[in-house]
Amino acid sequence: MSSALIRHQAELRACRHCPDMHAPPVLGEPVKSRIILIGQAPGDKEPQLQKPFAWTAGKTLFKWFDQIGLDEEAFRQQVYIAAVCRCFPGKNPKGGDRVPNPDEIAACRVWLDRELALNQPELLLPVGKLAISQFIQVDKLVDVIGQQHRLLINGREIDLIPLPHPSGASTWHRKEPGTSLLQQALTLINQHPAWQALT
Ligand code: SF4
Repeated sequence: MSSALIRHQAELRACRHCPDMHAPPVLGEPVKSRIILIGQAPGDKEPQLQKPFAWTAGKTLFKWFDQIGLDEEAFRQQVYIAAVCRCFPGKNPKGGDRVPNPDEIAACRVWLDRELALNQPELLLPVGKLAISQFIQVDKLVDVIGQQHRLLINGREIDLIPLPHPSGASTWHRKEPGTSLLQQALTLINQHPAWQALT
């Protein structure tokens, strides 16, 4: 636990900036970590459960990390979990959850930038196209998943290994080439020094 991250999260938990978002913000553990995982936004179950990836998408996501040696509890205790937006955006009338709009994404980026500064990570794991596109250009997932990318953020070089979204609504990772590219991404994560340093 980091006292700076505990203070940061207390402020973030009180944020009500976006009128169309459903409070409260959903936060992970205030662990200082060399790795930050960045999701899209919580679903409708997470605000009550008060932890990110607490429902079906999380089950799939944590199975992936289990394959490379870290179970869900160990992951939550050692990897900082952030998101593009921290509040549940509400349902899309056409199905699924509403995608956060550019104003909401920009407003919530302030919190993520602060977490990047506080954690000084060496590895970012953005999950799904919206999260990936906050850092690198992404047209198709096949062009970016299964590769390690190098970013320069605030003068520091940071590696980025993108992952597909584990939601049940997405079939991308269940059929080729998604299945193989996901495995390549997990292999890269497993080989990364920041992952190897986890216990
Ligand atoms: S989405 Fe982010 S910026 Fe908007 S109210 Fe929630 S925590 Fe605040």
